[in-house]
Amino acid sequence: MNKKIIYIGGYGWSGSTLLSRLLMLLPKVISLGEFHNIKEDFKNNDKCSCGEHVSSCFFWKAPFQKFQQGVVEEKDLFDQLHFDQPNTIFIDASKTTFSNFQRPFKLAEAYDVLFIHLVRDGFSVLGSNLKRKPRNLFWNSMVTAIHWKLANYFSERFKLKYRDRYLLVKYEELIHDPTTLLKKVAKALDLKISDELNGFCMLPLGHQISGNNIRFEKELKVEKRISNTDELPRVGKWVFSFFSGSMVKRYYPSGNS
Ligand SMILES: [Zn+2]
Repeated sequence: MNKKIIYIGGYGWSGSTLLSRLLMLLPKVISLGEFHNIKEDFKNNDKCSCGEHVSSCFFWKAPFQKFQQGVVEEKDLFDQLHFDQPNTIFIDASKTTFSNFQRPFKLAEAYDVLFIHLVRDGFSVLGSNLKRKPRNLFWNSMVTAIHWKLANYFSERFKLKYRDRYLLVKYEELIHDPTTLLKKVAKALDLKISDELNGFCMLPLGHQISGNNIRFEKELKVEKRISNTDELPRVGKWVFSFFSGSMVKRYYPSGNS
């Protein structure tokens, strides 16, 4: 079992696209984005982060042709990529939201998976969600709290089963000290890295399909972007704390920075 995958688990709006792009600074690592959407992306001939549509992107050429010939099993498409680029470590950033909670367990049965549990402070995640959906404050805060908690819970289940393949990464660690984070992941993957490695340099685009639109940003660097959670409505904070406060305290015992 030498086909390697990095699986990014956790909740959405936690920086998984930024983390995926950062990890591509490591040798042999290429991010596929949210691979669970691959069939939809192929069906719609969606745009790859390299700028080409999947039908004309050299990276996706062979799996896309297979799909057009009627191959619909995701594993066959994944194996085609491993066949085309042996020894490459692919990132699947499908996370562990409710619809995908079993996904890393299934992948771990067939591949050598390093599971990265990406956690972002729940209040910051709520702030991001409320910016997009400012209406129904109570409802949105409750739904975000429950889904955030479940996504992290499912990641913790992975740790229980595969402790040696699990790595906890915090969003705040990603934006404050990306170089140390890269070294930590390289160590877990047993990769040799250059002493010159700098996590604040320009990040590679890779061939990412679904995910946050920053996957298309040609000039992207890690920046220290900490949300100001003081601006969150008090009701939102209260609702979030009511449903998920114990888990927030577990990961952030002394605040979010
Ligand atoms: Zn591409």
